Amino acid sequence: HFISLEGGEGAGKTSAITALREQLQARGHEVVLTREPGGTPLAERIRELILQPQGEALVPDTELLLVFAARAQHVQQVIRPALQRGAFVVSDRFTDSSYAYQGEGRGLDPAWIAELEKRVVGLQPSLTLLLDLDVREGRARTAGRDLWPDRIESEQDDFFERVRQGYRNRAAADPQRFRLIDASQSPQQVGESVRNAIWQWLET
Ligand code: C5P
Ligand code: MG
Repeated sequence: HFISLEGGEGAGKTSAITALREQLQARGHEVVLTREPGGTPLAERIRELILQPQGEALVPDTELLLVFAARAQHVQQVIRPALQRGAFVVSDRFTDSSYAYQGEGRGLDPAWIAELEKRVVGLQPSLTLLLDLDVREGRARTAGRDLWPDRIESEQDDFFERVRQGYRNRAAADPQRFRLIDASQSPQQVGESVRNAIWQWLET
């Protein structure tokens, strides 16, 4: 099984995922928790380039190609082998992030993203949980975190608004794969909604 969690800053993806591991293991699954950009040592170095370009602004094309470079590494080194041995893979973000951030957010052509997806990824999660949250609420929640200072200028509310809409449109277009989770709930409730969605999906 391959499951991804998606959503903007402060939606609670990371906490929800951490709580998942034990429960899936208790059901006897081998669980691989992973994240993007990143998920392998090299891909984590690419993540640093993306999030901390050290003063030089990343042009959108570079950002897209770096995200996909990291993803190619992640898919081939970690995700495919894990799925092949029957593990349960849960990824904090996957290709939907590229459609939302690089596509809607940065304005890159979704057809190009689809082409990269087809050529270097070639697989989709069977279930994607979208943790949907009001942009200002998300910003309030992450206010204490020291998020990537190099990116702050390019990531303002209108950017995150486009990202959110991009996600919501993708979810609406593929209700079979997506479940929308109300991330305005408390972190505990979000975690519980995530688990319920997964159990329900496993039972069908
Ligand atoms: O998932 P996490 O909150 O750690 O993501 C870190 C940041 O990576 C996001 O806030 C976003 O700015 C960036 N990102 C991106 N494009 C992606 C995935 C993540 O710009 N495809
Ligand atoms: Mg996170």
